[in-house]
Amino acid sequence: MSFNSVIFRHLTINEPRFKCIFKIQDSILFSIRSFLRSEGFIEILAPIIGPCTDPGIRGAKLVSIDYYGSKFKVMSSMILYKQMMIKCYPKIFALSPNVRIEPLEAVSTGRHLAEFRQIDLEVAYAKCEDMLNLAERLLKKVIDDVLTNCSDELKFLGRELTPLKIPFKRYTYDEAIELLSSMGYHVSYGCEIPWDAEEALSSLHKEPFWITSYPISARGFYYLEDESRPGFLRDFDLIYPDGYGEAISGGEREYRYEFVVERMRRNCEDPSNYSWYIEMLKDGVPPSAGFGIGVERLTRYICGLRYVWDAVPFPKIPGVISP
Ligand code: AMP
Ligand code: MG
Repeated sequence: MSFNSVIFRHLTINEPRFKCIFKIQDSILFSIRSFLRSEGFIEILAPIIGPCTDPGIRGAKLVSIDYYGSKFKVMSSMILYKQMMIKCYPKIFALSPNVRIEPLEAVSTGRHLAEFRQIDLEVAYAKCEDMLNLAERLLKKVIDDVLTNCSDELKFLGRELTPLKIPFKRYTYDEAIELLSSMGYHVSYGCEIPWDAEEALSSLHKEPFWITSYPISARGFYYLEDESRPGFLRDFDLIYPDGYGEAISGGEREYRYEFVVERMRRNCEDPSNYSWYIEMLKDGVPPSAGFGIGVERLTRYICGLRYVWDAVPFPKIPGVISP
């Protein structure tokens, strides 16, 4: 794999295909913002650093900085802050920058960056069902708008994109594991679905599809356990078709202080590392649900790009030194 186009980005950034990609990306961001505003959301400013961040990031490392003598983290996701912000306003979203030092092997997936952005949203008192419905309508609108506004750019990129048919198919984690097993992928039960298996499952489909109800052991402490199905979460992932892999992760949040502390202990997390978050939960936050959708991955899918690093002007590929 050659990364010259990224290392010498100043020589490649004026290629016509990049003009097409970033025009399409602008349409995507514009549509997301107008759709969410029309649904009653307000856009907020995302944090970049803080005393703690999302630990549930599948083997990637967090970045720490010295903040006036205290150790601060660079946001791997703003999930904990979203739970705070819905105390202020019930429907919020942000274009949130995230840094994760992904393992070097992640490069081979073509869908992992070390710096990326999510459209991250949260809704007070919402349930999973509301979020699946919102995400489906959001993606449909984004793609309809790109088809209307960027047909020349799609044609230049050779991308044949068709309007989405919603609702998307739904699998539970158990069903997805079973399907994978029939395809010869044996996922160890209770873990995240490995990258190669996720890609194989994605390649089997022609439309995006959901995987819901992950086992509690697969995910972070902030997802709500399903009362009607102990051991499983009220959560979901959306997977793009045609091998593009994961698009969205989200779910209902565990918001009760004692339950979060217990879950942290089970995950071998020290609650004292999350002191403001724990204090906030003690005070009380509303129940909520939300999700994050990776902007570069969405651009990659819509433009039909082989690599996610062509979906961002100044990409940070794990292990590659570039502007
Ligand atoms: P996660 O919190 O890991 O579920 O990430 C939320 C969303 O951000 C994912 O569904 C992806 O769309 C996107 N994402 C996560 N990790 C990366 C990465 N390393 N590079 C690019 N996008 C990512
Ligand atoms: Mg995820």
